[in-house]
Amino acid sequence: MVLNSPGSALVWTELDNRLPAAGEIRVKVAACGVCRTDLHVVDGELPEPRTPIIPGHEIVGRIDVLGAGVTELKLGERVGIPWLGHTCGTCPFCLEQRENLCDHPRFTGYTVDGGFATAVIADARFAFPLGEVGTDVALAPLLCAGLIGWRSLGIAGPGKKIGLYGFGASAHIVAQVAKWQGRAVFAFTRPGDAATQAFARSLGADWTGGSDELPPEPLDAAIIFAPAGELVPQALKAVRKGGRVVCAGIHMSDIPAFPYRLLWEERQIASVANLTRQDGLDFLQLAPRMKIVTKTTSYPLQQANQALADLRAGRFDGAAVLVP
Ligand SMILES: [Zn+2]
Ligand SMILES: [Zn+2]
Repeated sequence: MVLNSPGSALVWTELDNRLPAAGEIRVKVAACGVCRTDLHVVDGELPEPRTPIIPGHEIVGRIDVLGAGVTELKLGERVGIPWLGHTCGTCPFCLEQRENLCDHPRFTGYTVDGGFATAVIADARFAFPLGEVGTDVALAPLLCAGLIGWRSLGIAGPGKKIGLYGFGASAHIVAQVAKWQGRAVFAFTRPGDAATQAFARSLGADWTGGSDELPPEPLDAAIIFAPAGELVPQALKAVRKGGRVVCAGIHMSDIPAFPYRLLWEERQIASVANLTRQDGLDFLQLAPRMKIVTKTTSYPLQQANQALADLRAGRFDGAAVLVP
């Protein structure tokens, strides 16, 4: 499913069979999650859009061709391919173990073709072995919603009271991780969205409310998953002195001006960009032990545009997953 220009619908396109170069693998896609970032790619909201491009960066599949020199992975092995598709290894950020900020990165489904396809080619060093526990569809949302959520929770710090603004694919995983870690979860949805609030409580949320409400007690940290800048001052009001507000998305509408007193008393605003391979290894190793259950809605690959439209309209709980 190819994006030929920003703002247009994806188009089913028959492409020539491609083979992996040295150091790459070809993966037969079994499932690919649909992430809000895919919407930003399709809408042309990210800088330097590259088209034509195949979106999709929550890929689960099996290796069907090994490129020359790939020895760490086996033919037929189930792997996950995330957003981080390649880093240079030599820039200052790579050298200080912050490859998520690499100066010369490649991103799956944004600058290299992704998983809204029957097959994908990936740099073998950036693919995660997934083992055989869990279905392909259930695992797909872990590859970005789970991973970025995991990184966001780390950046939020060890506080016990965590607020989650926007209870979609990422928050529904993070809520389970936070509960497993013994934290209290405060889930904020669109005002009046009783169905999503009930969904959040079913996953262990201790309190739910509208994003225009304040929690019953100050939070240690809040993570904003919704791409709505007006949530930043709202979340600052909800965190205690010294608390942190983490913006987890790649794109957000403008943050409105707000009084300095909301930031005063050492409150902090941070953003999360991409992931490191270590994030992936840490999270995917722990995920089976945390017994994360993902709520998914499957669509045939050719209905990718419908899945994107349903995500935009908030028509499902959890995550959409495309199945070729
Ligand atoms: Zn680099
Ligand atoms: Zn994503």
